[in-house]
Amino acid sequence: MIRLVRGFKDILPSDTALWQHVEVLVRELLEDFGFSELRIPILEQTELFARSIGTGTDIVEKEMYTFIDRSGDSLTLRPEATASVVRAYIEHGIYAKTPECKLYTTGPMFRRERPQKGRYRQFYQINAEVFGLHDPRADAELILLLMTIVGRLELSGAGLHINSLGCPECRPQFREALKPFLRGQTEELCSNCLRRRDKNPMRIFDCKVPTCKKAMLDAPSILDYLCETCRAHFETVKSSLDRFQIPYQINHRLVRGLDYYTRTTFEVLAEALGAQDAVAGGGRYDGLVKALGGPDQPGVGFAIGVDRLIELLAAQAQSFERRPHLFIAALGLRAQDTAFQWVQEFRMQKVRAEMDFENRSLKSQMRRADKLGVSYTLIVGDRELDDGAVVLRNMTTKEQENVPVQDLVRLVVNRIRTE
Ligand code: AMP
Repeated sequence: MIRLVRGFKDILPSDTALWQHVEVLVRELLEDFGFSELRIPILEQTELFARSIGTGTDIVEKEMYTFIDRSGDSLTLRPEATASVVRAYIEHGIYAKTPECKLYTTGPMFRRERPQKGRYRQFYQINAEVFGLHDPRADAELILLLMTIVGRLELSGAGLHINSLGCPECRPQFREALKPFLRGQTEELCSNCLRRRDKNPMRIFDCKVPTCKKAMLDAPSILDYLCETCRAHFETVKSSLDRFQIPYQINHRLVRGLDYYTRTTFEVLAEALGAQDAVAGGGRYDGLVKALGGPDQPGVGFAIGVDRLIELLAAQAQSFERRPHLFIAALGLRAQDTAFQWVQEFRMQKVRAEMDFENRSLKSQMRRADKLGVSYTLIVGDRELDDGAVVLRNMTTKEQENVPVQDLVRLVVNRIRTE
């Protein structure tokens, strides 16, 4: 038997109702906050990710699905969406018409990470990106949107962490201050971090190896090195969050795994997820549009990890499974033929109806109705058709009533709608 590729998964019908619930709710909120949908391809030039995410990052160094296509181009399955959104913003001249714009996109991302609980090689994100706004209130508004999504989904146990990564003015001083500290941690750091110590020292904050995490507890804080502009920016983000009563924790070790961030970064973490505890993350990336060949326009965005969000909601025992409303137990060929007609008519009226095609016994059809969890069952045999009335059984109260065959669909639809 041919099986799934490792790290990939099927989303089964028993789970898709919850996925759809999340997608619909998030889409509605994004549109309420002024976002328009952008659809981008899954495949891009490798260069796009190398230039945006950064060559010293885990993603670019070892996690991308890259291949040479038949014409010799190096292509990559997108590991994240921001780079593609920025490419589209530049390529279609969106910045010229609407420099200030809010875009969202949803879909699968691909990273060849070590598969484990909550970490897949194909996973789904919902991404929101805001272009053209320097104002820190844009950062706060985006965080407010993210936390509103969390709230509307009634997700419990999710906490917001925020930080500022400074800008090209102040960050170099922090990196210099970090280096002597890291030189004193040779014993504690993993080989990967030792290799990055000089080239990309801030990445070490992101390492998940326990000894590295422990070593970084005493590291200097970037917040002590922010320039005046970055400090003021961060203050406004915080005061705006206070104003809308969004609780947060300042976490100076929050650097995120991509190089393009400047100033505000944030993550939503949920302990219940275990080691892979980030449900969503984002931040400001003021230099990215320019670095990818566009105008000097700022950006800020977030990505929600839908798989992890779903895992949390599923654990909270919320059920979104869409059960059929009605089962028609038909006995005899003539009754079956009528039931076949009715089932289609019910569906046209948005009533989810099912029937049995196998002419099974009444007992076995009633068992199937129970299993489907329908609220009503219609019981119809050839005799009922001759008498002009069939039995409608309320599966919860077990009460039965006769419904005239004439006008049956309308009567039953009304009964189900007034439930
Ligand atoms: P990132 O682009 O790394 O900031 O990721 C944003 C969000 O996507 C994270 O907070 C996770 O919820 C989710 N995510 C990232 N990588 C994976 C993965 N390998 N499997 C499942 N979800 C992921």
